[in-house]
This record gives sequence, C-alpha cells and structure tokens, in this order.
Amino acid sequence: MDTISQLIKAFDSTYVGQNMADLVALYATIEEQTSVFCSKYQIACGNGCGTCCEHFMPDITASEARLVAAYLLFVKQDQKLIEDLLLARGNHEGPCPLYLFDSPFHCSVYAARPLICRLFGACASTGKDDKAVFRRCRYNVEKTMPEKLIFEEDVPVMQDYSYALRSLDDGNGKVDYLPEMVIPMLEQLQFLSHMLEGGDINPDDNPTPTPSPTPLAS
Ligand code: SF4
Ligand code: SF4
Repeated sequence: MDTISQLIKAFDSTYVGQNMADLVALYATIEEQTSVFCSKYQIACGNGCGTCCEHFMPDITASEARLVAAYLLFVKQDQKLIEDLLLARGNHEGPCPLYLFDSPFHCSVYAARPLICRLFGACASTGKDDKAVFRRCRYNVEKTMPEKLIFEEDVPVMQDYSYALRSLDDGNGKVDYLPEMVIPMLEQLQFLSHMLEGGDINPDDNPTPTPSPTPLAS
C-alpha cells in the first residue's frame, strides 16, 4: 500500500478521508490523460528540471491543501519543511517552500502535489478563439517540448481539470496561495487525528515514503 492510501485509510471514517480519496482518484485520472497527451505530442520536461517551482507559488483549493498538509504531517514528518512553509506566508512569487533545491526529486510532496503542478508544462489550455493551445514552458531551454501546438481535435485542457477540481471543493470556492491554504489545515488535521486515535496517527502505520520520481512538470 502506498503512503497516500495509508493516509486515506487513517481518515476513512470521516469526510476528510472521503474527500482525500475523491481528490486522489481525480489526480489519477488526470495523470493518465496528461501522460497519454504528452506522449502523443512529444511533450516532456528537461531531465531533472524543476525551475518552475523556483519562480512560482501554486494557488490551490481547500481539498488540495488538506492533502498536502496531511502528507507533510503524517508522511514527511519534517519539522523543517513545516517551518519553511510558515515562513513563506505572504510570499506569492516563489520559490515554493516545498521545493528542494538540493534534491534531484525537487518536490517534497510529490505524491500529494496540487493540480497546477501536475499540469504546468504538460497540458493544453483554451485560447481566445476557443481552440486548445499548448505552449512550451518558458524555462524549457533544452526545448524538450514543442514551442506551440494548436489543436483542431479535442484534447484535455487545463480549464476542464480545474472545473473538476472545484467540484470536489468544500472551501466555498476559496483558492489561495499554498502557504495560506495549507497552514490552517495543519492544525485542523492534528486536531482530527487526536479525535480519531486519541493521539497522532501512528507514523509506524505508514511505510517509508518512496522518493519522488523525476517530475513531469514540477
Ligand atoms: S514545466 Fe517542466 S520544463 Fe518547465 S520549468 Fe517546470 S519542470 Fe522545467
Ligand atoms: S511541484 Fe511541489 S515544489 Fe513545485 S510548486 Fe508544486 S508543490 Fe511546490
């Protein structure tokens, strides 16, 4: 069982567990579709690249924030990362506080990373004339993806995934930068885990996290 499944199981009698399960299922569907899309149109990030995370702060929904917070608290259990997150409040430009400059895997919450991180550089979006367009990420100096593609056929677009994500949302549609959304969730989840277990979710119930693979778009 992977770490995300363990998290869902730990909260499975609650709304939080169900919401995490729905979000993870949506991410899996999206990942499958973007992977087919990228392979069909020969879109790939540079090897080991994570430059976007150095110049970017994701804006995320409540459901996404809860999954990131749970991953930080119960899988990563890394106080330094949490401190970095607290210090990043008010930083809307990046770097993302969850980005690891010195690790080849870069994203410290790869399995729980938000939607925008999954789509950046890996998905088309709807242009002004309603046609789907893919544009090369501006940091992709190695040119491992086409500069621009305009599609006549139906391809997955960012806006559709965004709507699907919002349909899971329980935060009254609120979207904000990652630190602002994740920090309040840390406290909520700690409280909930105490209620469920009479204490923290046992870290021994969770397997050692597997290192994140080279990101497709992070
Ligand atoms: S989208 Fe891909 S190529 Fe562009 S900066 Fe991010 S990881 Fe690098
Ligand atoms: S992929 Fe990870 S490190 Fe990069 S912006 Fe997203 S959460 Fe932050």
